[in-house]
Amino acid sequence: MEESYDIVVAGSGLAGSLAAAGAARGGAKVVMLDRNDYSKAGRKTNWGWVCGDAVAKTHVDFIEKEIGLKLNEPHLDLKVDGVLVLSPDLSKKFQFEGEGYSLDRPKIAKLLVDYAVKQGAEYRPHVEVEGPIIENNVVVGVFGRDEKGEQFKIRSKIVIDGLGIASTIRRKLPKNDYIENMVSTDDIESTGRYIMKFKPEGEDLRYYDPKNALIHLNQELAPGGYGWVFPKTGTRINIGLGVEKKSIEIRNAKLNKKDTLHTLIDQYIAWNPMMKGLEMDNTDENGKGYWSVTVRRQFDSLIYPGYMGAGDSMAMPNPISAGGIGPAMTAGVLAGKVAAEAISAKDTSMEFLWKYNVKFNEVYGSKTAALEAFRVYLQSLNNDLINYGMHHFLTEDEAVAISYGNVPEISLASKFQKLLSGIANINAFKNLLYTRDKMMKLNGLYMRYPSTEKEFLAWKRIVNAELHEVKQRFQPNPV
Ligand SMILES: Cc1cc2nc3c(=O)[nH]c(=O)nc-3n(C[C@H](O)[C@H](O)[C@H](O)COP(=O)(O)OP(=O)(O)OC[C@H]3O[C@@H](n4cnc5c(N)ncnc54)[C@H](O)[C@@H]3O)c2cc1C
Repeated sequence: MEESYDIVVAGSGLAGSLAAAGAARGGAKVVMLDRNDYSKAGRKTNWGWVCGDAVAKTHVDFIEKEIGLKLNEPHLDLKVDGVLVLSPDLSKKFQFEGEGYSLDRPKIAKLLVDYAVKQGAEYRPHVEVEGPIIENNVVVGVFGRDEKGEQFKIRSKIVIDGLGIASTIRRKLPKNDYIENMVSTDDIESTGRYIMKFKPEGEDLRYYDPKNALIHLNQELAPGGYGWVFPKTGTRINIGLGVEKKSIEIRNAKLNKKDTLHTLIDQYIAWNPMMKGLEMDNTDENGKGYWSVTVRRQFDSLIYPGYMGAGDSMAMPNPISAGGIGPAMTAGVLAGKVAAEAISAKDTSMEFLWKYNVKFNEVYGSKTAALEAFRVYLQSLNNDLINYGMHHFLTEDEAVAISYGNVPEISLASKFQKLLSGIANINAFKNLLYTRDKMMKLNGLYMRYPSTEKEFLAWKRIVNAELHEVKQRFQPNPV
């Protein structure tokens, strides 16, 4: 016999657990399906809860405000003042984002799944979700294998996809105009990170700062991405690196090297003079791991008939920082709420669920397309241009505005006259002006995110054309 629920939530990571909690709290009959044992809820892969663990306070505050769930120690492992982005030559530092936390990911994942169960959602462990059940182009449930390896099917009125970047449901949706099955490799960062204890030697805040999360832009060490040193409690750190496939290939070919993500992380650690006496902190078997993260705008629609997606399954991480914790939690809360409303209204149509698209755009998603354009521009700059640009192109305030997807008001053209020298720098600056214009256009388009499904296709075509133009203009050029 096939089982039946109002809502199946696939994946109980940050997005899935909060979606399940919201839906159950709203009165729906909810089951969460996850491959992990209950005690290891949210573990992404055998590598663990692979993440940089950093999240801005504003996201934590949003969760508390929306659902009254207060996150405290020990889930919020360490409070930090902000995120500092350093130029490749380390001579310039911009402070992005305000206060935030370095989370204990295993503990926070457990807290959220406990919360979902408390709200009435059922947790089913050791389940491998293999795909959606589709009838007449509508998702009506999921299929997969249980812990004995036996095939199961569960039917539901709505499926919420919280399976993360490699979602087996999204990939098997019928080809459609709302949600892409795959993310282009150009929009993916391969990442890895270690959690380490170390013995700080001397003090150099460019390499390790106990009060700030450090991001090192460096196209030779981390082509198409960046390296990071995020402090944790004690003298522990989360240290890692992300790279983009084309960038690393170009960089290796030009430098006659054969580096991989793995060798680059080790080189990045060796490059950092403060990293002495390193020892892996393998608590919860979460010391070392590799996984991927998307760096594009979220999918243009987050729903398909019978289906809603939240978190990494919908490419929600921030295109320039790759921060996906905040958007995953935000989307989980919003998706769960809208799904519960749809169940109690007995209306799970696209028209009803569309309010989730609108709400996510309002609360978080409206600047991500602009950030995607900026990310593509940034990947076209080598270390010299980034160094020069961080000194001459933008003030810290302007750079911070851009990091939030805003477009600085002051006239960039005035700088053009006064400050710039060298043809490569002038071209890079002209390209920044072009990118700024595109960002403005994209923000304008997202201000007019379709309020109903009917206007969606026409809107989407324009957005895609704008971004296509940016991607045609800028190619990765790391060295
Ligand atoms: C190295 C790295 C560093 C990062 N650093 C940061 C950072 O510092 N700050 C930040 O904000 N973001 C960061 N991110 C991104 C962030 O980790 C993700 O955005 C976030 O975990 C997304 O949560 P999610 O719930 O959508 O998906 P996930 O956390 O991936 O959860 C998915 C859940 O579904 C389960 N699952 C998947 N497939 C199946 C299946 N077929 N059957 C059953 N269960 C399944 C998984 O086991 C897991 O429990 C980083 C990512 C990486 C890879």
